[in-house]
Amino acid sequence: MGSDRRLNPRKETPRPSAFAPRSGASFTLHGAGASGGIAIGHAHLISAARLEVPHYEIAPEAVEGELRRFDNAIAEVQGELMGLQASVPAAAPAEMAAFLNLHLMILDDDHLSRAPREIIRGRRCNAEWALMQQTEMLVQRFDEIEDAYLRERKSDVTQVVERVLKAMLGTGHVPASPAHEENVIVVAHDLSPADMILFKRHQFAGFATDLGGVTSHSAIVARSLNIPAIVGLHHARGLIRENELLIVDGREGVLIVNPDRQVLAEYQLRQSQIEIERQKLKRLRSTPATTLDGVPISLQANIELPQDVEAAREAGAAGIGLFRSEFLFLNRDDLPSEDEQFEAYRRVAEAMGDLPVTIRTLDLGADKSINGADRSGPNPALGLRAIRFCLAEPQMFLTQLRAILRASNYGRIRILVPMLAHVHEIEQALMAVAQAKEQLDDAGVPYDRDVDVGGMIEIPAAALSLGIFLKKLDFLSIGTNDLVQYTLAIDRTDDTVAHLFDPLHPAVLHLIAQTIRAGHRAGRPVAVCGEMAGDLVATRLLLGFGLREFSMHPAQLLAVKQQVLRASIGEATAVSNRILRSDDPAKCLRLLDELNA
Ligand code: PEP
Ligand code: MG
Repeated sequence: MGSDRRLNPRKETPRPSAFAPRSGASFTLHGAGASGGIAIGHAHLISAARLEVPHYEIAPEAVEGELRRFDNAIAEVQGELMGLQASVPAAAPAEMAAFLNLHLMILDDDHLSRAPREIIRGRRCNAEWALMQQTEMLVQRFDEIEDAYLRERKSDVTQVVERVLKAMLGTGHVPASPAHEENVIVVAHDLSPADMILFKRHQFAGFATDLGGVTSHSAIVARSLNIPAIVGLHHARGLIRENELLIVDGREGVLIVNPDRQVLAEYQLRQSQIEIERQKLKRLRSTPATTLDGVPISLQANIELPQDVEAAREAGAAGIGLFRSEFLFLNRDDLPSEDEQFEAYRRVAEAMGDLPVTIRTLDLGADKSINGADRSGPNPALGLRAIRFCLAEPQMFLTQLRAILRASNYGRIRILVPMLAHVHEIEQALMAVAQAKEQLDDAGVPYDRDVDVGGMIEIPAAALSLGIFLKKLDFLSIGTNDLVQYTLAIDRTDDTVAHLFDPLHPAVLHLIAQTIRAGHRAGRPVAVCGEMAGDLVATRLLLGFGLREFSMHPAQLLAVKQQVLRASIGEATAVSNRILRSDDPAKCLRLLDELNA
């Protein structure tokens, strides 16, 4: 790399910069690098799904018009909620109807639909501002309520208010976008996975958030967008002003605000070096992923939405190892119908041709909830999530299973069930698959009768009772993100404990290694589809544990392939065994460094 003349700073011809350093004070913030690379651009501050509310004074003669605007928004939301109420599908969770009723009642209450009118009149302010003033007062009253259930209803009030604001501002679900998206860096206090997925439609240059861990779903989606991102910056949203010049170093987790000329030039150079590396990696697209000692490795892709399949194909993925199907359910008020799901799954199956497509059944709950059915409870990561949620909503689960089975007629589909811990969960999931098949048989609808059903190993209880899992399931996929979360008791979305999230913890490594080995002894394929599969530091280690199937975001795939091409299974196995024999983390890290040297 050093011999590449283009990379030599002294040989660079100076070129005019699109980014003139700013006069504001320069400072640096440190967080956790969530998605590598360097972005240079201007800050755009957003308030997650919350809308930025403008505040302005209105002329006395404009008051009546402003009152009408407010009334119209209330009427629009009322119509919207009633429309949704009428179209709640039979398969929808029971809470959905109750939730819509509650929201209609809140909307109808004078505190929300009348009081802001008095504020508009009295203070001659715009309707959005009046509504926010009234909401703040209501929220404060809710905070004072002793009954925990009633106190929690505060979030229903704010959800209704957000709907009314959206009706007035006309932005739908999409977080406010800047006028120009080129070289724009989004700065937010927090972004939900649902917010993040919306950014797939935009072309932002980078992300910086105050909250979040590197394996939160928001960070995962940022990586899938292949743009630099930093999470856990704590004060970025408060300290940075709109349009300030920023440098995001997504690998080191460093955010530089108002860089001086020299720093800017350095990062511009590094940015072009990274781009050159990326271009070079593209040459590996059709090279078979085989180790130095001739062992073939399957490198597959993780996707969130059907359109991501293009990136998977471009990266030369050997299949889709994880389709996080729940993303089809986010950012909408209704549930996708069976036909809509079928079309989405079929699109992916057809695009991948003969290659396997592993569709994970809904992993809703925790940080991903469908509108109107937030049943995650007081401790979301430990609550009614994934298979637990699906088994509690059998109609919704069956609808999805029928859609997946129908799509299996158009490609090589496998079904993957997340978050299994109990044998009875496997049995119930398999019974649901059998029931969905029966329903399709009755309707004379074709599907692949031999579709494989596998389970995710992401709870230590599953990794410690593999025998029964291997008897009942066709394949396993290790979700290291959750396996680390549940083994180490670290909420993966909580940046205050992010420093304790350690995929290389000896306990985690043991669970991974023993799952791979037990699976292979039983003749069952085992993959890793958590973020560890795309982490270059872990490639050789996982090969040494016997892993032959990796699934990661398409953006990481070619770099992992390069690691595979340079690895020897013999050496990796020897060092990995030594790592497993040690429970001294410092020694494990030393050995890993040796292996990766
Ligand atoms: C995991 O837990 O590692 C995994 C792949 O699933 P998700 O990140 O969607 O929870
Ligand atoms: Mg998981």
